[in-house]
Amino acid sequence: MLVYKFGGTSVGSAERMMQVSDIIVGGDQKIVVLSAVSGTTNSLVTICDAYYANDKTLADKLVEDFRPKYDKHIFELLHEEASRKEANALMEEKYALLKSYNVDSFSELEEREIHAQGELISTKLMQLYLQEKGVNSALIPALDFMRTENGEPLYPEIENRLTKILQENSDIDLFITQGYICTNEFEQVDNLKRGGSDYTASIIGACAGAKEVQIWTDIDGMHNNDPRFVENTKAVECLTYDEAAELAYFGAKILHPLTVLPAKRKSIPVRLKNTMVPEAFGTVIGPQCDHTLPVKSIAAKNDIVAIKIKSSRMLMAYGFLKNVFQIFEDHQTPIDMITTSEVAVSLTVDKTDALPQIIKDLEKFGKVEVDHDHSIVCVVGQSLIEDTTVVSRVVNAIENLSVRMISYGGSANNISILVPTKNKNEALNLLHNALYNETLV
Ligand code: ADP
Ligand code: ASP
Ligand code: MG
Repeated sequence: MLVYKFGGTSVGSAERMMQVSDIIVGGDQKIVVLSAVSGTTNSLVTICDAYYANDKTLADKLVEDFRPKYDKHIFELLHEEASRKEANALMEEKYALLKSYNVDSFSELEEREIHAQGELISTKLMQLYLQEKGVNSALIPALDFMRTENGEPLYPEIENRLTKILQENSDIDLFITQGYICTNEFEQVDNLKRGGSDYTASIIGACAGAKEVQIWTDIDGMHNNDPRFVENTKAVECLTYDEAAELAYFGAKILHPLTVLPAKRKSIPVRLKNTMVPEAFGTVIGPQCDHTLPVKSIAAKNDIVAIKIKSSRMLMAYGFLKNVFQIFEDHQTPIDMITTSEVAVSLTVDKTDALPQIIKDLEKFGKVEVDHDHSIVCVVGQSLIEDTTVVSRVVNAIENLSVRMISYGGSANNISILVPTKNKNEALNLLHNALYNETLV
């Protein structure tokens, strides 16, 4: 069994869906996870914002905005009268549903129902296309097996349900399902957070005992820097699970931050591939990567808040950090970076809902300073620490930037630097030049 996942751009037009079909039809038995057509989830989020803002007229207009795009998509993808009729009826049903909510009572559950519609649409359109082509495939609803509890996948339950579905359809070679969406412990529609289809694929891979999970997207693998901000980046051939997890967590958008975890638990390789250039090698993520590059890639994560707690009570004392950490634990707020001196500790968070309360609690221990609008720039490579030139190159490269924190040595495979977000692009480019010159590559 193989699990393939195609992102929004990969299913973003009729032509792209046809390309996907060329990639998935034939060969090993597969479960194919699809995202919503590109732009759809963003629009669904905007529709919810309109409901929350009591603006039903805007919500209705935004729903109508889907029409030309999907009309074209269906017209170009499907050619038989019966399948076009079915697709158009599906869309009418979705438009009616999206317009059916009440601004006065709009709830989080309804919001999640709306967010789920993109994947329900894209998978149905793909299945209709495969049917038209006479492919022996089945659409298996993710809501029937993808179960979470407190936001975490419930692996045994997912495995049981999925195994049963696969057994009942043992004559089928190709299964299509929705990424991103799930049901929670209250049997309500929920999701795995934005970009979560990658995570769905990895969870399914782990539960179905897949040989490999392939994430098909619009770029030929994990690049050695963020291609949105740096020119001349190139694909990295392989990454360890830990390197990939670190890069995804620290902002490499190509992977949802949690994607690697389920695959790693079962030692399943994750391959990143380009739908538009299927022959490109891509990136393989696995337990090992015998590659001599000390630095594999550089990523950056925005919306970071730095908090400094300064207290003379820290001097020669023990237990101070424990008290500080306890406050973050009490407010269920993870800490990303930390640096300390004898009289102060600085740390960063990206979850800010409890920030006012955290600050209030920290003020019992000392003077608290808070800096918003920062980014963590993260240099990742499993053997980075063994090459002593790396850290000096990093520090020299950013000498003219106002660096707020640096973390080195916490793990063997990463150097993290906190800079104001306005300096992020510059930092990524300076590090790119300093780390990928001829002596290192
Ligand atoms: P999909 O819709 O297929 O899930 P995403 O937009 O979520 O695709 O992820 C692919 C995008 O990730 C690329 O187009 C690229 O702009 C961005 N990206 C950010 N960092 C990296 C990186 N290090 N390597 C490759 N792509 C990256
Ligand atoms: N459609 C969802 C999103 O746009 C999930 C995904 O694409 O992975 O976030
Ligand atoms: Mg994505």
